[in-house]
Amino acid sequence: MSSNDILTKLVKDLSTAIPGRPISVLTRDPLTGSFEAPLGRARLDLPGLVVERVLAGDEWVPWEHDRGSPSDRVGSSSLLTMVFPICVNTSTEHVVVIHGGNVSKQDIRLIRGYCRQATLALDTRAIVEILNRKIERLASMICMVDELSAVQSYHDLLQTVLDRTAELLLAEQGSIMLIEKKTDALLVEASRGALHEPARKIRIPRGVGIAGGVVERGEPMLVENIELDPRIGKKNRAHYKTSSFVSVPLKIENHVVGVMNFADKATGVFFDDVDLRLAQTCASHAAIVLDRKELCDNTAKLKRQAITDHLSGLLNRGGILGRLREELSRSHRFAKTMSLVMLDIDGFKKINDMHGHATGDRVLRRVSEIILGAVRSIDISGRYGGDEFLVLLPETDMFFATHMAERVRSDIAQTDLSQELPDRIVKNITVSIGIATYPSHGTSPEVLIDHADEALYRAKANGRNRVSVY
Ligand code: GH3
Ligand code: MG
Repeated sequence: MSSNDILTKLVKDLSTAIPGRPISVLTRDPLTGSFEAPLGRARLDLPGLVVERVLAGDEWVPWEHDRGSPSDRVGSSSLLTMVFPICVNTSTEHVVVIHGGNVSKQDIRLIRGYCRQATLALDTRAIVEILNRKIERLASMICMVDELSAVQSYHDLLQTVLDRTAELLLAEQGSIMLIEKKTDALLVEASRGALHEPARKIRIPRGVGIAGGVVERGEPMLVENIELDPRIGKKNRAHYKTSSFVSVPLKIENHVVGVMNFADKATGVFFDDVDLRLAQTCASHAAIVLDRKELCDNTAKLKRQAITDHLSGLLNRGGILGRLREELSRSHRFAKTMSLVMLDIDGFKKINDMHGHATGDRVLRRVSEIILGAVRSIDISGRYGGDEFLVLLPETDMFFATHMAERVRSDIAQTDLSQELPDRIVKNITVSIGIATYPSHGTSPEVLIDHADEALYRAKANGRNRVSVY
């Protein structure tokens, strides 16, 4: 039964109990606070003094129409109107208005009895409504958790948390802002509603504005009216329809990493404690997303670090051997050739001995850069150890591999190393290169490496600064 049904039934019951009198039911407008929209036969406005007494908790208020104020006389004047409040959830939401005077004390008892009955029905209905809304919100929350586990990309995850939370709060506008580590300022990462594109790029320093303040204090903020709230007291901006908002901090293990903001309650009413609690629960979902992202980033970084040679920035021995196994199995699957180029700096010991280890390191870095510049983007370069490098050339036969290796060799030989070797008369270095190709020179990583090494040994033995194929 809807509240309209309950009130209609009340009017019907009262018309039967006290026939012949016009009866109206007025309902309080939540925004203006006045009693309006009469349900029944007559339309009227309640005088302020009557409303005051109704809201103060009087069980009934007699009102003389011609005086426009409450009256003490009952049962005498034909112009006397009786107003009976109906409370829902402890606040007076409706009033029953009985027009036409001459209401006996017995009638009053009868009317109050019917009003109490309607109050009970309305209260029960309100509780059911609250429960239904809670169930709905709970269901949406469970949906959100399910949905989150299906979404993969980090930005989609943040957007999903924001959208679902905004739906739960009935908020038309919302945003997730995160602290950018580099600048320690807030940056919009996900938004909903009328946020203009330029606003996405503005950095808000910690402690500045509403969002910056929430981050600084690590405490949520619920504001009914931005213009009247003493904590803010500033004009509502034009792109907001209502003056209420909720902002909650996003925390990972008590460390604030951002803020989630919601504005423009779709019902036109302000956000309340329930909204705040919901936003906080959802904020913890957002925090899990962020935590997961940080964990993934860190894991990826650690993985990258584990396979990177820190001197040259190329793959290290473990990294390049791992890629060699992968590329060989791919070549095997697709029946493609691939070549392995092994490269060693000629006379590198002397550079170390004459100029010191630091100069040697600078030369190694420079050689790495030249290798990277000479090979294709699909080729994979690594430092195999000491002054030895490995380059994998996928889908490359020995002839093209020789051509590529020649290019690397001559690029290195022609490079002027005046910067790295300032006090050396000869400003160049050379490398020797050995090549082994899959499958003709071997099919396993070990055999191919051995054979490339043998070819390299031959290049050294034949006078260095040359390329040799196994
Ligand atoms: P060859 O032409 O026969 O290759 O002569 P080489 O002097 O280059 O001899 P080899 O390749 O055996 O020497 C490698 C040297 O590289 C030995 C070692 O002192 C030096 N080395 C190894 N790792 C590093 C490093 O990380 N930094 C520097 N500066 N030197 C290194
Ligand atoms: Mg060497």
